[in-house]
Amino acid sequence: GPAVMWFRRDLRVGDNPALLAARGAGGGVVPLFVLDPRVWDAAGPARRAFLVGCLEALREQTDGALLVRRGDPREVVPAVVRETGAGSVHVARDTGPYGRRRDEDVRAALGAEGDVPLEEDGTAYAVGPGRVLKGDGSPFQVFTPFSKGWAQHGVPDPASRPRSVPWVAAGGADDLPAAPEVDYDLLPAGEEAALAAWRTFRDERLDGYAEERDRPDLDSTSRMSAYLHLGCVHPRTLVEEARAHGGEGAEAYVRELCFRDFYADVLWHRPDSAWEAYKPDLAGMEHDTGAAAERRVDAWREGRTGFPVVDAALRQLLAQGWMHNRMRMLTASFLVKDLHQRWQVGARHFLRHLVDGDLASNNHGWQWVAGTGTDASPYFRVFNPVTQGHKFDPHGDYVRRWVPELRGVEGSAVHEPWDLPDGLPEGYPERVVDHKAERQVALDRYAAVRG
Ligand code: FAD
Repeated sequence: GPAVMWFRRDLRVGDNPALLAARGAGGGVVPLFVLDPRVWDAAGPARRAFLVGCLEALREQTDGALLVRRGDPREVVPAVVRETGAGSVHVARDTGPYGRRRDEDVRAALGAEGDVPLEEDGTAYAVGPGRVLKGDGSPFQVFTPFSKGWAQHGVPDPASRPRSVPWVAAGGADDLPAAPEVDYDLLPAGEEAALAAWRTFRDERLDGYAEERDRPDLDSTSRMSAYLHLGCVHPRTLVEEARAHGGEGAEAYVRELCFRDFYADVLWHRPDSAWEAYKPDLAGMEHDTGAAAERRVDAWREGRTGFPVVDAALRQLLAQGWMHNRMRMLTASFLVKDLHQRWQVGARHFLRHLVDGDLASNNHGWQWVAGTGTDASPYFRVFNPVTQGHKFDPHGDYVRRWVPELRGVEGSAVHEPWDLPDGLPEGYPERVVDHKAERQVALDRYAAVRG
């Protein structure tokens, strides 16, 4: 019988060891994607549209054979094996908490199905989680030493791209949903688009990356995150090509890819840290609850806090399903330290809307801001939303792009619209809190838990 290639977060044909293994089995390859309602139902419109786009692209790459079935993989995968008489199922190892449990169950169900093996080759990371360990065999808990171990371990070469794959169309029901209508430009989806975007970035902006990566007003980062999340491109390919390009920008870029591996490694060793504090030091911290607090959280979600750069970023998230790294740090700090919310509240909102929404990078990014993470920013470091605006959006262009109410304001004055001679522009909200006062509240609560 054929082999089933069960695509999950590896929606590509190149540099895909699991696909090479499925092809090597010799009986043709049934390409399968299972639309898990558990994942789909939690996704906002941008996430859904991007996923559907990537599946459409993969269907084209598989000569139309890609089978999309909606349902619990524990039932769907064995059913497809029965229908096709497949002799093996091939995947890349999923290292997240949910994927690990799911794959154990699927493995057991396939075992009961006449001993059909679930074969794992590769992961979504340059160096697979669990592989980089300290000399004594324990996991790293701090990024810089991890990054040294990671460099020593070495990133494997990309897997070869198969010249052709004998795709087998399984037939039967097709559950590929229509992409939800979104009224803005999404990233072009799929492997070819990912590689084209990467090569443009490499040739035009990688050299300036180390210097310009912190500027949300410039188009200075690679926008590879969503492609990496769904595996339209493997990070090995990016590491190899960045290194071949060379220079300071490339070095800084590889370091960020290593950060992605680090958080996946932390989550692998500590699956509980997806939704609970990695370090319990701040347990017992007081958080705001009640109707007024809820209203402020709603204002945050909608990008109506009255702090321009915070609002610009939160609106970009809703509009595009993406936000610049600096802005993720700033808006997260605002929710945790100005609005005194648990980081999980914001992490959930981000995961729903980010096209790159990723449990390891997102939730550990939030823990970093909240001061509960691995080498976290100390809790007493509170970002000032006005200063951050002036620093990272010096001319105010980023704010004007995303906050139409402030488009009439010139230059950096846009960061303090309450000081404009004509008053606050019409339609733009008053500040929901007094930053200076809330900063003090945050520091007091911090002092209270630290004793
Ligand atoms: P580039 O600057 O071009 O970086 C290249 C790649 O390196 C990224 O695509 C990403 O894969 C990796 N990378 C860069 N910075 C980080 C980082 N701090 N941590 C881990 N990997 C990194 N990244 C996600 O991929 N998914 C998330 O859900 C996510 N949530 C975040 C939440 C918070 C609160 C914070 C502070 C950061 C989060 N990040 C997340 C990390 C980072 O903001 C994004 O990876 C980056 O902004 C994506 O844009 P880019 O591809 O243009 O980045």
